[in-house]
Amino acid sequence: MSDLFARHRAVIPNWVGTNYSEPIEIVSGKGCRVTDAQGNSYLDFFAGILTNMLGYDVAEVREAVERQIATGIYHTSTLYLIRSQVELAEKIAGISGIPDAKVFFTNSGSEANETALAAALTHRKANQVLAMRNSYHGRTFGTVAITGNANWKASSNDPFGTHYLHGTDRQLSAYRTLSDADFIKACAEDLRQLLAAGINPADVGALIAEPIQGVGGFNVPPDGMLGAFKEVLDEYGILFVADEVQTGWGRTGEHFWGISAHGITPDAMTFAKGLGNGFAIGGVVARGDLLDGIRGNGISTFGGNPVATAAGNATLDYVLSHDLQRNAKVTGDLIIGGLREAAQSLDVVGAVRGKGLMFAVDLVDPATRQPSPPLASRMLEATKERGLLIGKGGLVGHTLRMAPPLTLTEAEAKEGLGILTDALTAVNEEASKP
Ligand code: PMP
Repeated sequence: MSDLFARHRAVIPNWVGTNYSEPIEIVSGKGCRVTDAQGNSYLDFFAGILTNMLGYDVAEVREAVERQIATGIYHTSTLYLIRSQVELAEKIAGISGIPDAKVFFTNSGSEANETALAAALTHRKANQVLAMRNSYHGRTFGTVAITGNANWKASSNDPFGTHYLHGTDRQLSAYRTLSDADFIKACAEDLRQLLAAGINPADVGALIAEPIQGVGGFNVPPDGMLGAFKEVLDEYGILFVADEVQTGWGRTGEHFWGISAHGITPDAMTFAKGLGNGFAIGGVVARGDLLDGIRGNGISTFGGNPVATAAGNATLDYVLSHDLQRNAKVTGDLIIGGLREAAQSLDVVGAVRGKGLMFAVDLVDPATRQPSPPLASRMLEATKERGLLIGKGGLVGHTLRMAPPLTLTEAEAKEGLGILTDALTAVNEEASKP
């Protein structure tokens, strides 16, 4: 064990997990590549959990932040006007598609979701929330309550009543064989039945859902499913909150917001991770009347500070002016197509999923076809040995998650695909030995 790892273990809580039997310390980065303290270089297909959205050392972001720092002002608080915050809010409100939108900035996705819940529950004078099984929405009490993955729940306290819907659990025998259309129908019917029999719809504030589940293993519901849910919710005035913390900003390639694959405009969207390209920023964009309706005075001391919003403006401008959504589609299709092809002769691959630069591979035991967390861990080591950083997730931890910077070049996409295929082939050989 390295000295730094031993010191980490001694002072950082045990539940803060690290990747690899020997975790690495990333000390520098440029473009889509990083270098560790030992001088090893890696192509980065996880980007600080989808957060270094443009990659590393991007001049436009660095210079915007440096310009702000040179003024001597890193923080003023929202007691004073913050030009970069107003500008960023205007841009996000504009591209959200939400009518008369306003934006509240936070420091994290968890706080963003808390704010969306407060807005929805206040507006509806309600105390019940709908969420999806296998979801992840954060680590505060409210967001833990709506997280449908017990492995990520620090507490079973629930400040509201949370009800978990079907729709992200297609592996169940009741659903496995259904067509997309029948699956959507069955899940929408289940929602309707819950509202008819289980809870009073007047008590329900909102459904919150990730358009593609992130921590849950890049679990992709069939296109249109969340739209079918919204149709039911609309009958009762229940609001829809899309958690775009992982799926926003064009990452899925086909749309700028993940929720657009479901043909709807939500009442609110939450975001965080990639917007600051590594600087801490999150927020909620929602109908102005919803955000205005939150009771009492409100402030986030650091939320939307001048440095984070300078980074946010520069990052968002870069995404839009370089059409990175299109790049996500082209490079994502290349990798996902390549993985699907490779998977045909690899028994350890249970499934290849994803959209754009958000793609996953499930690892299964070749003999039993059951999910195999140990093989996923083996794959993490095998890709690291070959110079590629990837992530892991899924309900039982058998899913490899990949989300490279949106600036990934086609050459880097091919290089990463080559490493993934090579590592999968090696792990497949090991696992298939009698
Ligand atoms: N929502 C989703 C979909 C997430 O993936 C995450 C973080 N993994 C969060 C919310 C919480 O964000 P944060 O860690 O910034 O609080």
